[in-house]
Amino acid sequence: MPNMFATKLLRLKDTAATVASEIAPFASEVDSEAAWPARSMAALSKAGLMGLQVPEQLGGHGQGLLALAVLTETLGKACPSSALCFGMHCVGTAVIAAKATSYQSENYLSKIARGEHITTLALSESGTGANFYLSETLITLAAGQFLVNGTKQFVTNGGRADSYVISALSPDSGEIGDLSCLIVDSDTAGVEWLEPWHGFGMRGNSSRGMRLTDARVPLTNLLGDTGDQIWYVFEVIAPYFLMAMAGSYLGIAQSALEAVGEHLRTRRYSHTGDSLRHIEQLQMKYADMWRSIEKTRQLLYAAGERGDRGDPDALPFILSCKADAAETAVAVTNEAMTICGGIAYRENSRVSQMLRDARAGHVMSPTTDMLKIWTGRSLLGLPLL
Ligand SMILES: Cc1cc2nc3c(=O)[nH]c(=O)nc-3n(C[C@H](O)[C@H](O)[C@H](O)COP(=O)(O)OP(=O)(O)OC[C@H]3O[C@@H](n4cnc5c(N)ncnc54)[C@H](O)[C@@H]3O)c2cc1C
Repeated sequence: MPNMFATKLLRLKDTAATVASEIAPFASEVDSEAAWPARSMAALSKAGLMGLQVPEQLGGHGQGLLALAVLTETLGKACPSSALCFGMHCVGTAVIAAKATSYQSENYLSKIARGEHITTLALSESGTGANFYLSETLITLAAGQFLVNGTKQFVTNGGRADSYVISALSPDSGEIGDLSCLIVDSDTAGVEWLEPWHGFGMRGNSSRGMRLTDARVPLTNLLGDTGDQIWYVFEVIAPYFLMAMAGSYLGIAQSALEAVGEHLRTRRYSHTGDSLRHIEQLQMKYADMWRSIEKTRQLLYAAGERGDRGDPDALPFILSCKADAAETAVAVTNEAMTICGGIAYRENSRVSQMLRDARAGHVMSPTTDMLKIWTGRSLLGLPLL
């Protein structure tokens, strides 16, 4: 499998691994204090990784789906909240890059490549919930600007990013599905941050509601054309989001496997003198965990690689890899809780944090249930929606 990585991706993976080792010691603090991982984002910026999805001619790395999966996996092993925050920044970047004007390239992408700008996605709304591609936020045209009104929920990097990629009903349209994407700068008048939402897991993602009241957004911040949002959702947002999330959840599963391996090797009974690794049933469970993680990794890398080369059969791979990674992460971390015994069940133990973080994989939209339906529909030649 590593042969499928180009030299550049291997270098980026090594750089991410160095960052991962720097941020790992702070992962439990990020979790216990529900603290946005500023240190991780600064380290990623210093390492030159924030422009992963920015075209090379603008100073970025010009990478695609596979690289995003590999880097979020690497970071997810060390600090899942950091992987999530970085992943959402990368998805937002890919959305801006997909049809960037020269203004957007200069004002957003070049800054992102220099590590001077964090962006993120703000799509979800309470009215439409998991149907993240539907928005009830309104845009009207007034005095040569967009006026935006609506409320987004669960915005990762909320209040921390420099810009937010939002979706809204196209100006003066009102027709369901006629949606547009805009970049909203953090200092836009009319943007208000609601109380931070404290999650069961992924507690450092600074998830917040974002209320927009007559928020004035320049016309230059429209992404693509009005009505383009469904194109963005299925051509850019879903593929990049699914890679970033599947990578993060695979990283969590890998880290749980490593914790189990360490426990099996080091936990020794005084009455036998043997470590747990000599118990056959535990050997079998460990093999099962390893096997499910490897299968998830193969599916994810195949999805990224096929997506990057434009394989016409890539869709079911891309749609199923995040559902698969979420299932693997939840199953493996749950089993790790049993195998690591009482030490894992301690309040806020490392393994219990992994289980809590893993659970978010099922509900982040497209959710596991939706992705299974979409995968089936794509295999049966039906439209996704
Ligand atoms: C940690 C975290 C970070 C997030 N970050 C962001 C972010 O950065 N930006 C953003 O825009 N959003 C973000 N979200 C929001 C997320 O993507 C979902 O939109 C949100 O979790 C949906 O929540 P809900 O309670 O409204 O779900 P509901 O809509 O109430 O759905 C509940 C359940 O019903 C199921 N369901 C609904 N419709 C169907 C269907 N047709 N078929 C099968 N099952 C269905 C869903 O799968 C889900 O399991 C984040 C969420 C979490 C938990």
